[in-house]
Amino acid sequence: MHIQDILSAARGTTTFSFEFFPPRTPVAVKTLQSTLDLLAPLRPAFASVTYGAGGSTRDLTQSLVAELTQSDVFDPIPHLTCVGHSESEIMTLLTRYAAAGVSNILALRGDIPAGKSDSGVFTHAAQLVRFIKQFNERGLHPRPRGFGIGVACFPEGHPATPNRMTEMDHLKAKVDAGADWLCTQSFFDNHVFHDFRARCSLAGITAPILAGVLPLTTATGMKRMAALAGGMRYPARLIRALNRAGDDPEAFRRIALHHATEQCADLLDHHADGIHLYTLNQSQPVLGIFSRLGLWHGHLP
Ligand SMILES: Cc1cc2nc3c(=O)[nH]c(=O)nc-3n(C[C@H](O)[C@H](O)[C@H](O)COP(=O)(O)OP(=O)(O)OC[C@H]3O[C@@H](n4cnc5c(N)ncnc54)[C@H](O)[C@@H]3O)c2cc1C
Repeated sequence: MHIQDILSAARGTTTFSFEFFPPRTPVAVKTLQSTLDLLAPLRPAFASVTYGAGGSTRDLTQSLVAELTQSDVFDPIPHLTCVGHSESEIMTLLTRYAAAGVSNILALRGDIPAGKSDSGVFTHAAQLVRFIKQFNERGLHPRPRGFGIGVACFPEGHPATPNRMTEMDHLKAKVDAGADWLCTQSFFDNHVFHDFRARCSLAGITAPILAGVLPLTTATGMKRMAALAGGMRYPARLIRALNRAGDDPEAFRRIALHHATEQCADLLDHHADGIHLYTLNQSQPVLGIFSRLGLWHGHLP
């Protein structure tokens, strides 16, 4: 379903959507299948599928998207990055997705893998958005409106643009180029999101903004996330609570889940357009959040 229809069907209530990554090993395939089975009753608004800018998992993204298009539960939204792609490669992918009945694309720049140079035709996501928009305007998608187009945004700021006013101009350029919705990088302090939403509004960005929430599961994962572009800043309250957990992985998970649930409850209270849960292909944190929010009454497996 086109993102505009997904959001208007929600009639002003906050949607929930999930992000998955394509599995690389037979064990990971099994884990994802079990996660999809367990999360199906939650009926997410859509399921986004990441794309490896480095190239190694690109075909796997297409396979997972193709698989999800066959399900009547997970409406798949493929991520697509500009990095390393020629115009004709992007055209081929869009044509394939359109033929498969995919209704939306998350248009990203991606990050150039360490040690590689970028041979891609587009240097910024706004150019990819414009390209998809033209694809739509040329009537190359079987549905009249073509692809709904999403873009990434960074409430904590993106490291390539230290000037936050300039960064907002770049974000506005993506929306002006044709983006229908924005999805944030994960954040752990909701004040950051509320302030970001207000700054977007002041900049004239009226497209819906989905809040990215990541339930942490391990201390190692927490450190890995901090190292990402647009890296995480963990609030003192969360760090203090996790420090109290010491080396107990179960206590870590419980505290992190409590924190993510509080974030979601606050986003619901503030009528966020949507909450996009970074599942890391795991069902337990998502089920835990839904259960604690009173949105799901099943038994945790
Ligand atoms: C929701 C979400 C999903 C993601 N999914 C993936 C994924 O599946 N695969 C993956 O590889 N990565 C993914 N990423 C990571 C993302 O690709 C990187 O963080 C990348 O560095 C930024 O992508 P972007 O689309 O925001 O790029 P852009 O919008 O191009 O911005 C990148 C930087 O360039 C600056 N900029 C933009 N336009 C201009 C201009 N005209 N002149 C100068 N500077 C400019 C921006 O301010 C920003 O600092 C995701 C990120 C998010 C938030």
